[in-house]
Amino acid sequence: MTGLVERDHRVLWHPYASSVASPLFGVVDACGVTLTLEDGRRVTDGMSSWWAAIHGYRHPALDTALKAQVDRFAHVMFGGLTHAPAVELAELLVSIVDPSLTRVFFADSGSVAVEVALKLAVQATGRPRFLTVRGGYHGDTAGAMSVTDPDGMHGMFRGHVVEQVFLPRPRPLYDEALADGDLDDVAKALAQQDFAAVIIEPIVQGAGGMRWYSPAYLRGLVELVRAHGALVVFDEIATGFGRTGELWGMDHAGPGAAVPDILCLGKALTGGTMTMGAVLCSDEVAERVCADGGTFMHGPTFMANPLACAVAKASVQLLLDQDWRGTVARISASLESGLSPARDLPGVSDVRVLGAIGVVELEQPCDMAVLQPRLVDEGAWVRPFGRLVYTMPPYISTESDLAAVTGAIVRSLS
Ligand SMILES: *Cc1c(COP(=O)(O)O)cnc(C)c1O
Repeated sequence: MTGLVERDHRVLWHPYASSVASPLFGVVDACGVTLTLEDGRRVTDGMSSWWAAIHGYRHPALDTALKAQVDRFAHVMFGGLTHAPAVELAELLVSIVDPSLTRVFFADSGSVAVEVALKLAVQATGRPRFLTVRGGYHGDTAGAMSVTDPDGMHGMFRGHVVEQVFLPRPRPLYDEALADGDLDDVAKALAQQDFAAVIIEPIVQGAGGMRWYSPAYLRGLVELVRAHGALVVFDEIATGFGRTGELWGMDHAGPGAAVPDILCLGKALTGGTMTMGAVLCSDEVAERVCADGGTFMHGPTFMANPLACAVAKASVQLLLDQDWRGTVARISASLESGLSPARDLPGVSDVRVLGAIGVVELEQPCDMAVLQPRLVDEGAWVRPFGRLVYTMPPYISTESDLAAVTGAIVRSLS
């Protein structure tokens, strides 16, 4: 029998990878925080499958919810029909965000959630353009790419995507004080033209650089944007569900201090089991879109998939029923102590931790062909990109799981 990797190389694409050569590992089992590879090796998960599997793999509460829904029905169209999994999940989501966010649109993925948010904003305001910041990442579909940093991975699509207006990266950094002038670019851009909305990842810029900025910037941005009559869209697809130490990234700004008109969720929404995004909006946005008999022009075939809704409800409830804040604080402390030896390594420019996110930034882009197999040899599943070697472990990780991941990172870079 030919191995999975060899057969894969003949027929498959992978995310952000050449179809020809990049290191690849077959997985035959995933349980808890352990991935078992085809060759029998077991590695400790440091990625939560890209922010998503916050409860680890095969959590009984999630598997039970999925199986129970399979025994009822796996899917029905959402046009003209509704079902308990969708209603219950929407009720749960609106109960854990700012009370101004009252209405939920279920999308197929994070990128589609961003498309939906942009379309809602265009329909609500009648304006076509968006304002955003450098260093952002909002997904891979055309609209989402248009608000993703054009010098990042999507530079080659210039001309294909709509040109939006980009502010410099948010500043100052998380722990620094906002200085006079830090919001001048925002004020200037808003004075020059009318925007449908600003779109931004609250506090943590994820795939655009794993960088965290000051809550005061977020507060100031929201205030200025509102004063100019544009909407505020928060992309909490990566930052949501406790990852940053608060339930939402926006909560770092203080209760009710930075609230969007439209909120995008995804990734950890289903605990890493099924693809789904959600877009929450205010009554005002919904009323503006639906004024004069208007309808919102979006409707995926698999909208509000019952399996995804059922398992999302189980995942969110499981999170809320535990001391997630204590757990994330514990993980944060372990990442800080486990990664701090990397500060002294040659080639390392920064080590930073926020919530359950740990980042080692290198001076030069890493050589994945070398570093990826080395990390696996050291016993951890960590997927670096560019100059960033980073981890956002599942919340169920024990101290020894966390030590396995941070130890593997430090040893691999030594
Ligand atoms: C991952 C991500 C997306 C895109 O989500 P997909 O499910 O991959 O389409 C959008 N915004 C942010 C902030 C993300 O981290």
